Amino acid sequence: MPTKKTPSTKRKAVPASKITKSVVENTVKSTVGEDVIPLIDYLKDKKNISEFQIAQSLKTEVNYTRNMLYRLHTHNLVTYHKKKDREKGWYISYWSLNLRNVKNILKTQHVRKLEDLKERLVKEERYKNVFFICPKLCSRLDFDRATEFDFKCPECGVILHQQENEKTIENIKVKIQEMEKDRNWM
Ligand SMILES: [Zn+2]
Repeated sequence: MPTKKTPSTKRKAVPASKITKSVVENTVKSTVGEDVIPLIDYLKDKKNISEFQIAQSLKTEVNYTRNMLYRLHTHNLVTYHKKKDREKGWYISYWSLNLRNVKNILKTQHVRKLEDLKERLVKEERYKNVFFICPKLCSRLDFDRATEFDFKCPECGVILHQQENEKTIENIKVKIQEMEKDRNWM
């Protein structure tokens, strides 16, 4: 049965072999900015295009065009070389896309996310079940504070319940496992 592809890239990392147009666009948007998307679209399938030609084609000012190109260059998503214009006597930069680096950016983001998750797991495990919460949800206290109030809600006086975070810990562990599997793809 033919299955329709749905964008399920929200939480899961994208294997490098599946870098689609939308993955490229989302990565560029989040690292460089949404405004460079038309530029990327324009440079795709082209090589060594001068900044003046880019500006003219996109109907943007040359300075703004350069600004976008430099931002892309910071993330290694474009390459350029300079050539002296014989008539005018000044140097002109010619630009090409380097979208291969999207893969590296994704890899870095993936590693960072994974590290964040592991850090969170350590924290959750360190504070395992040491929070106390009012059943009416008006307060949430750590162990020391809960002792101060005799394990009663400081707002309404109801006995506090120990808050369990085992489920949270389990969820984080599953996510870490998934992400580590995905890392092997990259
Ligand atoms: Zn309460």
